[in-house]
Amino acid sequence: MADVKGIVKADLPLNVRLGPKVIDEKAPFQLKNGQEVTITGFAIDPDGDENKLRYRIEVNKKIYWTTARFISVDPLLAKTIPFVPANPVSASEELLESMGMDVKDGVEIPFEEAQEIAALLRDFKLTGMWDLDGILTVRTLIEDLHDHGVTLGSIDGGAWSMADLRKVQQAIAGMAQGIGRIFEELFGRRDDALAFRMMYAPLQITRSARNNVSPFPDKEVWYAKNSNGYEIILGNKVFFEGTQTTRSNRNLPYTSTELVAHEIGHVINWRYSLKTAKGQVVRPREFYEVNLMGKKYTLPSGESVPLTMNDGYRLAARSSNGGHETVTDAITAFSLNRLTDDDTDPLRKKQGEARRLQITDMLKRIVRFRLETYSGLEGIRAAILRIGGVPLEGSLQTALDLLKRPNSNLDEQVVEFQKTIIGLG
Ligand SMILES: [Zn+2]
Repeated sequence: MADVKGIVKADLPLNVRLGPKVIDEKAPFQLKNGQEVTITGFAIDPDGDENKLRYRIEVNKKIYWTTARFISVDPLLAKTIPFVPANPVSASEELLESMGMDVKDGVEIPFEEAQEIAALLRDFKLTGMWDLDGILTVRTLIEDLHDHGVTLGSIDGGAWSMADLRKVQQAIAGMAQGIGRIFEELFGRRDDALAFRMMYAPLQITRSARNNVSPFPDKEVWYAKNSNGYEIILGNKVFFEGTQTTRSNRNLPYTSTELVAHEIGHVINWRYSLKTAKGQVVRPREFYEVNLMGKKYTLPSGESVPLTMNDGYRLAARSSNGGHETVTDAITAFSLNRLTDDDTDPLRKKQGEARRLQITDMLKRIVRFRLETYSGLEGIRAAILRIGGVPLEGSLQTALDLLKRPNSNLDEQVVEFQKTIIGLG
């Protein structure tokens, strides 16, 4: 591993110590503002308060320690600095605490396992107190998200609680179920996580501590944001109990999990197009507005079902009735089985059936178009750079890496599907 260099950023000379603790003996010299240092490890001093993160540095071939918060390091390189337990007996606990996880006293985890868990916690913050059960559960949950090509982030003081994470996991499972059914109908094989990766990954879901995540907070209030198709920002108000409704669709309630699912659903409209029966390439929102939203639909029985905007749906988590919002709700309601096709009222039942068939047709067209025009992981990276530049690429880096895993490489898996798709009508 290459040496990690840091630059001292301190108004006053910075103390250097012989050991990792803030009370360890001082070295006979101090570091000056702007000085470059070589960092060879980090430790946590539980009694160090705001100075608890310690860097092990090398000066004139000798090992010393200093306070990390006055040393500036490239964030990407910072991740590669090895952990050095200050107290070997509680090394696992120290390591997890260093990742921002508040670990309950007395929790025992083998150090190797703690290292694997710490690696999963690198890019976001957690809130709450974590016992052994919670730590193992969150590990499984993050690995499950990774299997779907989803990573987590934190912004503006946002930190994930176990309750938030469960909602996100449920929303992903629900959306995966929807696209999994489409892939099953197209390819005769059911694998929801794989189908989700094909259409929704790479995806970063970021927790903000703001109530309003709008880019124009003075003008409008947004609970959540997915304006680029790759990163979803979820603010405090996304996480609530029970149901809520939006002003424009008072009779169609949604839960917190359904709102997260709706934000995931936006990915489809922002990223893809589809081909109409006449061969025109259009965006999902255009296709939906022109052909589905308020159109009669003929069921396979020959019966014609008239439909208005909300007919057939049980949820509306949209912020407006604009095209990109209604098509997103349609995809979300279809995926989560929140259509009225199981209603006891015969008319509502038929409307729900009509919606299911309409949306199935639309999603099949979108999947087909996506597979036909797939540009490879480097093409996806280029699209991310075009949309959000280097900051967005940075947020998506881990998610892009997940799609290169040898046993689930997205490029290779798309090629497998492309071989089959030629047979489609
Ligand atoms: Zn929306």
